[in-house]
Amino acid sequence: MRRKFVAGNWKMHGSLAANEALLRALLAGLGNGYAAEVCVCAPFPYLAQCASLLAGSRIAWGAQNASQHDHGAYTGEVSAAMLREFGCRHVIVGHSERRALYGEADGLVAEKVSAVLAQSLVPILCVGERLEERESGVAEQVIGHQLDAVLSHCGIGAFAGLVVAYEPVWAIGTGRTATPEQAQAVHAFIRGRIAAHDAAIAQALVIQYGGSVKPGNAAQLFAQPDIDGGLIGGASLVAEDFIEIVRAAA
Ligand code: PEP
Repeated sequence: MRRKFVAGNWKMHGSLAANEALLRALLAGLGNGYAAEVCVCAPFPYLAQCASLLAGSRIAWGAQNASQHDHGAYTGEVSAAMLREFGCRHVIVGHSERRALYGEADGLVAEKVSAVLAQSLVPILCVGERLEERESGVAEQVIGHQLDAVLSHCGIGAFAGLVVAYEPVWAIGTGRTATPEQAQAVHAFIRGRIAAHDAAIAQALVIQYGGSVKPGNAAQLFAQPDIDGGLIGGASLVAEDFIEIVRAAA
C-alpha cells in the first residue's frame, strides 16, 4: 500500500521569526497524531533553520529547486550535493512557476531530476497543464510529454525514487481546485503512463495533487484511489490549515 505524502511549498515566503512560529506550531499541533509523511520545502536561506528546528521530529524538509550541475561556475545556483550535505530529503523540480517564469523546459527538468536522484534525494517532479491546454483537450498530451522527457533522460528506474505532483497550472494559487474526479482521472493517466514501462514501479509511485488544496477539500481529494497526498502552497503557510490537511491524509 502506498504511503500518503503531504509537502508544503512555502515559495518565496517567510522570515526567521515567521518560520520559527510556523514550525513550532506544526510540531506542537501535529504531535504524533498523523499517519502521512510530511515535508516542508523552504527557501534556500531558511533550510538550515528548518534542519535545526525539525531535528528529531517526523517532519522532513526540502528545497524548491536545485541545479542540474554538481558544481562549477554557475553564479546563484545551488546543487543537490550541497543540499544533501546538511540533511535535505526532498527537492521540488519543475514547478510550474519555474517552468513559466524561468523558462525551465521539459529537458532541463529531466536533467534536474537526474542530478537530484544522483545525490539520493527525492525529487518531487511537478507536471500539469495550463488552462488553455485543458480547454483545448491536450492536457494528457502535455503531461505525457513532461513524463516522457524524464523517462527518456533518466529511465523508468527514476520513477522508483521520485514523487510526482500533478498540479494543474490553472488551480495553483487561484482558489480554483480540480474536482476530485478531474484530478483522479489525470492521476490514473499518469500511473498508466508509467505502468506501460513497469507495472510494479507505477503501483508504488506516490502521486500528489497540488492546486488550491485547503482544509475543506483535502479529504475528498485524498480519498481518490490514485491521489496519494498533496503539494500545498498557500495553505502550508497557515499552521492550522496545514495541520488539518495533513490529518486529512489518514
Ligand atoms: C504550489 O505552489 O505548488 C501550490 C499548489 O500552490 P497553492 O496550494 O497555493 O495553489
